[in-house]
Amino acid sequence: MYSTMLPMLAQAKKDGKGVPAFNIHALEVVPMMARTAAEKKCPVILQVSVSTAKYIGFRLLSLMVKDVAGELDIPVALHLDHASKLEDIEGALAGGFSSVMYDGSRLPLDENIANTQKAVKLARDAGASIEAELGIVGRGKIIESYPYTDPDDAVQFVKETGVDALAVGIGTHHGQYKAKTNINLDVLRAIHEKVDTPLVLHGGTGVREEDVRTCIRLGMLKLNFGTELNVSWVRRAKEVFGECEPDESLRELMIRCNDAMADTIRKKIDLVRF
Ligand SMILES: [Zn+2]
Repeated sequence: MYSTMLPMLAQAKKDGKGVPAFNIHALEVVPMMARTAAEKKCPVILQVSVSTAKYIGFRLLSLMVKDVAGELDIPVALHLDHASKLEDIEGALAGGFSSVMYDGSRLPLDENIANTQKAVKLARDAGASIEAELGIVGRGKIIESYPYTDPDDAVQFVKETGVDALAVGIGTHHGQYKAKTNINLDVLRAIHEKVDTPLVLHGGTGVREEDVRTCIRLGMLKLNFGTELNVSWVRRAKEVFGECEPDESLRELMIRCNDAMADTIRKKIDLVRF
């Protein structure tokens, strides 16, 4: 069934498990993602960047996710990832998204809090769940020295905004798939000791499996995986499309690429539902 993140995160907290969030890059993967999670009896968050959401269309995407979620026994959320403009959050909510993320992590703390408060109001009015970010998750060139989230700032942030989930910077990096990151579990532990709000792991592809499990124990209940899924689809596509005849069925070719992504999804579910 179509859902916000709230019941999934509440259940995950009770069970000591994580909820996986998978990034959609194209419509073709959507039914496969939801059905693969259902086959594993795992609640799932399907999320999109603002640019992918605009490429597909907010409403078209939500109609598709709602329709496929309606046939399944697991909760499925559709979440807007890393929106830095409130107008994009409004667009997603008007289009039927069940969850959004406001990302003001590059702003000074007081501005991030003020904008997040506005985003929380928009989400609440639409009956959606909301995630925000404090501290930096790396992007682009890999740098070891991104500032970590300050635990005391995190206390103030969740108190003043009332967000449902908080992304924190502990040294993870978006788009990293060639090597694993040295994350700072001491920072995460310090945040977890002070903050009860579910935390979110961004850049999950670049995190060692044993560290992912430690992160769940330390309060990271939403775990984002995007790059590794994309890599598995495109790797298979290079083989499949590289060796095919031009009159082969596009459907059959794409199913083979989707199968590769589904294998990665099953592995990630096993990783977070231990
Ligand atoms: Zn992210």
